[in-house]
Amino acid sequence: MSAYGKIKVRGFVLTGFPFGESHKIYNFLSIEHGIIKIVAHGARKVGGKFGSSLELFNELELVITGNKSTDLYNISEVTLILSSHNIRQKLYTLNWFYYLSEFVSSWVSTHSISANLYNYLRNIIFLIGEHSDIALICIRSFQLKLLFELGFTTDIKHCALCTSELSNDIYLTKRHGLFICNKCKSHNDISLSNSTLSEIRSLLNLSFDDFILDTNDINIYNVSISNETILILSNIFSIINYTVLDKKLKTDSLFYGGDIKI
Ligand SMILES: [Zn+2]
Repeated sequence: MSAYGKIKVRGFVLTGFPFGESHKIYNFLSIEHGIIKIVAHGARKVGGKFGSSLELFNELELVITGNKSTDLYNISEVTLILSSHNIRQKLYTLNWFYYLSEFVSSWVSTHSISANLYNYLRNIIFLIGEHSDIALICIRSFQLKLLFELGFTTDIKHCALCTSELSNDIYLTKRHGLFICNKCKSHNDISLSNSTLSEIRSLLNLSFDDFILDTNDINIYNVSISNETILILSNIFSIINYTVLDKKLKTDSLFYGGDIKI
């Protein structure tokens, strides 16, 4: 971000870490500027002026001022838009939140994200807090949308190498996580079954309207996700982390077999 004056941003608090004797630095996912680093002075003191407003996945509006030498932003004003306090009380949710926070911090960096995707994230944060059973499908659909929006992979309609139209015989490259055709594949590439492809397409096109609430429970219509697809997706996200971003997520250790530990 190049603006260093006083600016207003809206977004989510991601993970924070200690800074100096009593301060903290937080990654903040803003709609306007992607991930920015904000300093909360005195945030580790009891009764500090920020109180509990900077907790994970609270949605805030901030007035911040930049520091040219460090790319850190100081907070002048905080307005809490939506608190995630009640959701964070559940351990299951908290693990997902740590994972999602680290994932978003690594992937989004200084990219901005579209208002649509921001709203999708906002919806799933509160949905997984209420319905842990659909947390996985919510998170994976968000990650897929992010994958395509940030351009880490190409669409699933055309081969990333020869640009010919893709039929149902599609492969995933092990080096870059790209979708390619039968002619361009090499022996290392992963073959995608028709059912996995159709599940990936469904997840990608999933809109919040597909989550139908009835009186007792939540049902997801027209969407299913098999273990095979979960493993393929985990593969795609790992490939991007290792070979494109050169990172290993600490929170990967929260997972086994595609699902999260409780
Ligand atoms: Zn091709």
